[in-house]
Amino acid sequence: MTTGKPLKFSNLRKTVSKRADEIVEKRQTGKIKYSLHDSCLSALAMMFFQDPSMLEFQRRLEEASQLNNLQTMFNVTTIPKDNQMRTILDNVPPEKLYPVFSDFFELLQRGNHLNDYLFLEDGYIIPIDGTQYFRSESVNCPSCLVKKHRNGTTSYSHQAIGAAVVHPDKPQVFPLAPEPIKNTDGTKKQDCEINAGKRILQRIRTDHPNLKIVITADDLYSKKPFVELLKKLKMSFILVAKPTDHTILFEQVLQKDEQDEADVIEWKDKKGLTHRYEWINGLRLNGGTSPPEINFLEYSIIKDQDKITYTNSWVTDIEVNADNVNKLVKAGRAKWKIENENFNTLKNQGYHAEHNFGHGEKNLSFNFFIIILIAFSMHQIIELMDPLFKKARAKFSARKEFWNQLRCMIRIIIFRNWESLLQFIISPSTGIRAP
Ligand SMILES: [Zn+2]
Repeated sequence: MTTGKPLKFSNLRKTVSKRADEIVEKRQTGKIKYSLHDSCLSALAMMFFQDPSMLEFQRRLEEASQLNNLQTMFNVTTIPKDNQMRTILDNVPPEKLYPVFSDFFELLQRGNHLNDYLFLEDGYIIPIDGTQYFRSESVNCPSCLVKKHRNGTTSYSHQAIGAAVVHPDKPQVFPLAPEPIKNTDGTKKQDCEINAGKRILQRIRTDHPNLKIVITADDLYSKKPFVELLKKLKMSFILVAKPTDHTILFEQVLQKDEQDEADVIEWKDKKGLTHRYEWINGLRLNGGTSPPEINFLEYSIIKDQDKITYTNSWVTDIEVNADNVNKLVKAGRAKWKIENENFNTLKNQGYHAEHNFGHGEKNLSFNFFIIILIAFSMHQIIELMDPLFKKARAKFSARKEFWNQLRCMIRIIIFRNWESLLQFIISPSTGIRAP
């Protein structure tokens, strides 16, 4: 269990405000109607409550009573008009928002809230994975990745590499700043996932110089240059390695199998399924000169003696043994957390990640994506440690119903703060405060 003082909504909101205040204002002083801070925090509030019409409803409250929930909960002085907020955010360099993620991480670490997340060799499991958060046949900007299709059509997309601290047995994940896969001026060649992957590794190391990290990723990354970079950055790794992509590696595995030199553990579960772990330390990742030395492991689930229902294989720098092989497999498989509980949540559970909030000319699309991830991180942290939130959430079985209720409430009632909103949800009769 966590031992430190729980983080509150206000701790997190203040962290975002501080970073928003640090963004250098480049507009002429006389022309500023809405501040950078108010624009960033209004966007955050929209994503936090997953409500594209948030600004409009808060403006109505403001007109009626000179107060609104954007002000009381998000410290927004003047609510920007939607289109002006978009123009302002389009010009914010995304890098200026990245530190919010390390700030959250530091707050979590300092409060000892992440002790439970240490999993392997006292390190944190950090899966990295590519995701597409925008796609269109018509809307586009200079940063869009462009794909010309055989039927003559063109599609535009935005993709990014996501990274998050996860634990195989825990539902909450803590995202780190994403890295865009994008076209940059002056380069004809389009960026690719693996290059963005290398950039995010370097940034994670710069942001967390001494952190013990185990990177997990899919087959695309189990290649020599990526493995060498991981070793250089002193990061451990568990990377999927498929036979189709690793001929030389699997030739060695086959040879060891034939010589009976591979270690194997098998056990049967209650349902009669056999779980088979095989590992071999000290193999070569590939052919050529100076191939990286890696350790190999494979996990299969077998039904009725010979029907393989699941199988996967990985390469790792951690020496595999009978004591850690199960943990390594769990960590290797935990990479999917980022899809199941991070990005799919963004897509399916009301964050409207692919909803067109506006695309912009420069950074708007990516900045909205970052702000969605910040809102998502706040939800994860609050879910984990805010007792009031847990109590309010428990009043509803469906997540969607709960957030619907919050949205309805803040459209008509002005709350002093986030806590009084939750209090109202828990016991409506005691929560009412006349403005
Ligand atoms: Zn674009």
